[in-house]
Amino acid sequence: MSEVDAVVNTVKLWLGNPISRGLIRYVYNGSPQSFNKMLEKYAELDVNLNVSEKFKYMILEKILNIGAKSFGKTEKELRSSLRSPLIRRAISNILGGIAEYGIRKPQTTIAPFLVVWNYTRLCNLKCKHCYENASSKRDEDELNTIEAKKVVDEFAEAGVVAIAFSGGEPLMRKDFYEVAGYAYKREFYISIATNGTLIDSETALKIKDAGVQYVEISLDGLEETHDNFRGVKGAFKKSIEGIKNCINAGLDVGVATTITKQNINEVPKLVDMLEDIGVKRFIAFNFIPVGRGKDIVKMDLEPEERRKVLEELYGKLITPNCRIQTYSTAPQYSVVSVNFEGGPLIATHFTNKSAMEMLKGKAKALAEFIGGCGAGRLYCGLEPNGDIIPCVFMPIKIGNIRMNRLIDVWRDSPILWKLRNRDELEGCGECKYKYICGGCRARAYAYFNNIQGPDPGCFVKLEYWQKINNS
Ligand code: SF4
Ligand code: SF4
Repeated sequence: MSEVDAVVNTVKLWLGNPISRGLIRYVYNGSPQSFNKMLEKYAELDVNLNVSEKFKYMILEKILNIGAKSFGKTEKELRSSLRSPLIRRAISNILGGIAEYGIRKPQTTIAPFLVVWNYTRLCNLKCKHCYENASSKRDEDELNTIEAKKVVDEFAEAGVVAIAFSGGEPLMRKDFYEVAGYAYKREFYISIATNGTLIDSETALKIKDAGVQYVEISLDGLEETHDNFRGVKGAFKKSIEGIKNCINAGLDVGVATTITKQNINEVPKLVDMLEDIGVKRFIAFNFIPVGRGKDIVKMDLEPEERRKVLEELYGKLITPNCRIQTYSTAPQYSVVSVNFEGGPLIATHFTNKSAMEMLKGKAKALAEFIGGCGAGRLYCGLEPNGDIIPCVFMPIKIGNIRMNRLIDVWRDSPILWKLRNRDELEGCGECKYKYICGGCRARAYAYFNNIQGPDPGCFVKLEYWQKINNS
């Protein structure tokens, strides 16, 4: 039996049998707050448990000790890593999902691990591919500051781990620092997706002081291509300044590029340039014809072009001494990685740096549980007006945070349950890669108006791309 099979089998044995699940369910009991207190106790922090929690803690301690072994850690190491509030929150999110839903392929967490919050539709640029149809006017129904802080409280109560502020341009809202700072105090992992043009050196420090751990700046190619795409001359220079200012402020910086026919040939040069500047991650975003992107649908990549660019990026990722990590939001990236001998398998495009650390050496074993599209099972989106959506590229309202509790929508939405079932997907359902990939559900929806439809960007099954082009 390979090490990979051994780990999968141990995890299944450890958590997958009805007795362990029953025990975890009893210990978790729908309360992330109480569960967190028990994890604090395990981490040897100063915490008072009530009588019922003390009893449950004895069970949890045994479960965690066995779990530590499965992951090749000593008890001491696990206790020490659980001193980080973020790791406690992540463990609680995952174990809560197992308690509630059992071991599933792919796994569903108790609450979204990550929420991408389109904080505003306001933006200072006019990008051709903008999924949010952002503009220079603020929507009147945006959540206000008080409501935004209540949303943060609700995320904490539900057991969300990470919040990514996006937009529009989140920095266009003056209360961004106040709300991000509030979320940081409530111990979330905070990141921001920005066009970078508004980040001078002072702003970079303000972002850092607010507690933002990761800044993702979007660039759509080299200078001429980028400015053309963004609809504003000089945008490229400003974004590069923004990147440098963030790096100088000591922030972790990544660059996101939506790949289309217009910029695909510039990707290698762009990645090398960013590596030299000190950017830590490059993320190739899948183009999805939604919002203003519908008008440029002809710029979408052919499946073979997608394969080529993903292979180039993976080749870069596994180059010895490479100083930049190269990822893609295309779920097919894991298909490329699995077919490369020896390299790490890309389990999910939501795997952040700290998650990668936690999963070191085990990602291959866990890929079928956490791999591929995370919409509706690890992650969801929140619109500026509080609408809850499965993914920021999938404009299907499944609730509104002003009226519905996030945890109820997450547990009960029929749309989310459709997304969580890879066996019933058209095309992907019969594919051997369905658990590590599953296609981009937003692309299936954009092209076929069907969240369980095929992803026409797939290079394993080409018939769906041909179908679009022949229709
Ligand atoms: S058919 Fe679906 S699961 Fe299989 S590789 Fe293509 S997109 Fe991925
Ligand atoms: S639908 Fe899935 S793969 Fe596509 S962008 Fe959203 S989360 Fe990513």
